[in-house]
Amino acid sequence: MTHQLHPQTLAIRGSKEQTAYNEHHQALFLTSSFMFDNAADGAALFAKQKQGYTYSRTANPTVAAFQTRIAQLERAQAGIATATGMAAIQAALLTFLSAGDHLISSRSLFGTTAGFITGHLMRFGIQVTFVSQTDVSEWEKAIQPNTKMLFLETPSNPLGEVADLEALAKLSHKNNALLAVDNCFCSSAVQQPLKFGADLSIQSATKAIDGQGRVLGGIVCGNVDLVQQMALYVNSMGISLSPFNAWVLLSGTETMMLRVREQNESALKIAQYLQKHAKIKQVYYSGLPENPQADLVQKQQSGGGAVLAFEVYGGQAEAWKVIDSVQIFSKTANFGDVRSTITHPYTTTHGRMSPEDKAASGIGEGLIRVAIGLEYVDDLIWDLEQALAA
Ligand SMILES: *Cc1c(COP(=O)(O)O)cnc(C)c1O
Repeated sequence: MTHQLHPQTLAIRGSKEQTAYNEHHQALFLTSSFMFDNAADGAALFAKQKQGYTYSRTANPTVAAFQTRIAQLERAQAGIATATGMAAIQAALLTFLSAGDHLISSRSLFGTTAGFITGHLMRFGIQVTFVSQTDVSEWEKAIQPNTKMLFLETPSNPLGEVADLEALAKLSHKNNALLAVDNCFCSSAVQQPLKFGADLSIQSATKAIDGQGRVLGGIVCGNVDLVQQMALYVNSMGISLSPFNAWVLLSGTETMMLRVREQNESALKIAQYLQKHAKIKQVYYSGLPENPQADLVQKQQSGGGAVLAFEVYGGQAEAWKVIDSVQIFSKTANFGDVRSTITHPYTTTHGRMSPEDKAASGIGEGLIRVAIGLEYVDDLIWDLEQALAA
């Protein structure tokens, strides 16, 4: 095809592993192993002299179709899928970091990622420096001769602070380090970190890619060389994505662009409604035009994403009252789902942080996080209105 396909088309038609039966939808290859034609064929496959499938921990056609589809949306050469988003983060970090290496990471991290870095990476002799999400000079000062990777997620959870990907990619490459970006909050529908020089884009497929709160999965995209190295790690560690989950996630991928676009529009409308509400001290949403980082957001993202946060007057007691009064929003910490969700970060997702760290990260006792789904937006506004009045 000479025509350059739009991501919305690629999300649907970007890859398919076809069988002889002419099925229209991607087939589910639910099999743990694949047969060899004869002994010599088996030897050739294992020696990698012949391309083909041997065992689903190593590779599987349904998983391969999923990897190709997401890599296209990420503008990447390739992708390697994993059992969960955390497995994707593990693969991206541990394939490229060894004992004695140094990692620089943003302080604004998903809780389990922070736990993985402080509880495990450091135990394996990898040095880590935590720096500000937004101040590039802090990253520059943290560079050491053994720095091998810079890691962050943007926008941050739940305050939506945006990191400057181009500046951090330049800094990484000047120092022979990789830039790895957790792209989960935006998803490939809204942001493609590789376009700004990132080497690795990581996603929890559990969020916007599935989009319906059903299965866990993850994927890391990058160039062929980096992805091949991670594929060997994923195979050895046994953290591959199951073919069944890949098949569910492929269906999710097909509607992701439409879902995320609608969620972005609803989230912006809700953020603007909340800004005018007398009971609300502040609204945090990267998609707001008044956001001090609006220029950077416009450069890197095609929307603000589905998640926003707001601080109510009256601290935890008032925040809990709002959460306990909603009638539509689900009280659960997931996001990217068709069902909108509401949580209190101070006592849930960020509950393990010390009060000082929470204060330093701007996680107040009155802060509420909502993740917008696909319900009719005016119904969601009605729900927040009646909950705030309670
Ligand atoms: C959910 C999430 C993860 C972890 O993904 P799982 O699929 O739950 O393992 C990592 N990073 C971010 C930003 C997330 O929101």
